[in-house]
Amino acid sequence: MRNYAKHKFAEYYKMCLRGTQIEAPSHLKNREFGFLAFDKTSMFRHKGFETEEALNRSLSVVAPSDAYYSSAFYEHPEADMSKKDWLGADLVFDIDADHIPTPCGKIHDSWACNNCNFEGKGPPPERCPKCGKEKFNSKAWMCDTCLEFAKAETIKLVDMLMQDFGFSESEIKAYFSGNRGYHVHVESKTVLSLDSMARKEIVDHIIGLGFETEFHKLTEGNRVVARTEMPSWRGRIAKGLHLILSRVTLEELEAAGLKRGKARYFDDNRKELLSHLSDKGWLGIKEIGSETWKRIIQLIVHQQSAKIDTVVTTDVNRLIRLPGSLHGKTGFMKVEVSLSGFEGFDPLKKGVVFKEGQVVVDIVEAPEFRIGETQYGPFKRALGAELPTAAALFLVCKGVAQVVNGHV
Ligand SMILES: [Zn+2]
Ligand SMILES: [Zn+2]
Repeated sequence: MRNYAKHKFAEYYKMCLRGTQIEAPSHLKNREFGFLAFDKTSMFRHKGFETEEALNRSLSVVAPSDAYYSSAFYEHPEADMSKKDWLGADLVFDIDADHIPTPCGKIHDSWACNNCNFEGKGPPPERCPKCGKEKFNSKAWMCDTCLEFAKAETIKLVDMLMQDFGFSESEIKAYFSGNRGYHVHVESKTVLSLDSMARKEIVDHIIGLGFETEFHKLTEGNRVVARTEMPSWRGRIAKGLHLILSRVTLEELEAAGLKRGKARYFDDNRKELLSHLSDKGWLGIKEIGSETWKRIIQLIVHQQSAKIDTVVTTDVNRLIRLPGSLHGKTGFMKVEVSLSGFEGFDPLKKGVVFKEGQVVVDIVEAPEFRIGETQYGPFKRALGAELPTAAALFLVCKGVAQVVNGHV
């Protein structure tokens, strides 16, 4: 079924080798590479390359379903893990729709228990509600909604990296991962030697873990003090408070733990509270005590933190997807996003590699999806459907279609 995908991936990497080669990461000679084969059983790890040409040549020969390189630099990248001699690592972040609660997950994602076949919608539970086992076959799809959610989290992350940590634009590179999210790489001398614990502290700041209102001097008695021009989390809380006062719903306030009367007070007095906060930089309300402020601030922390995959950032030997390579689950490319053009970036346009030709496929089943300007599906047992190459490849990579009379 996936032979067609392998054939198209090989075509892409051969084209790269002959033309604009896939750019090698910095410190190429010290990086470890890993290629996943299309049969999914073999991962070629501990590879090293001396030149960009050699890297591109290898990609064109192997035509991997997924290509990775190490965020770390090693003295001996091709040696076994214990003999590599770690020299340092970039700071990397992964934002994936898998880790963000999105409204569309319930519509297009599903799972089935490997043991008893019990099925459900959305992300898989920790344990099967029927038999209690923990192994599932899960199907995750992507749509504009979850990609927008992932983008919003990435924009918050990049803002924190620049505003709170002081990284410059030239030290940060952001990418569409090729599937359901974004990657952010920080390459800077200041992060190279950070160990796992130090990276965990950065992670905790970004996700707002253990956020204590007192330590940030956000409350004085029954007042909350927050000006948007304040640095780091204090300013972020102020901005969040403005947002809450302008558009949070009664239900959301109650869900955050506010009693109905207090939630209603906010709802009824939004305008006055908002203008007071803007003018004076604080709010003090007879009806709202410090415990309630803390609940509101926790709600803001939840909204303003960036939902990163914490494991990726703290792992100092992580293999991450190679920019310019194709994603085995979609056929899309991991492509750079300019920080200034983030808002208008369209991953389902910029990640598309194959822009020509039509392919006839038999489709088992697929929810609606978009590539470029065109909306496709939903499909159910659609035999002999003629689709543009990128759409056909996407469905083949997803494992829900096979090519007819083509490359079998
Ligand atoms: Zn089960
Ligand atoms: Zn979605």
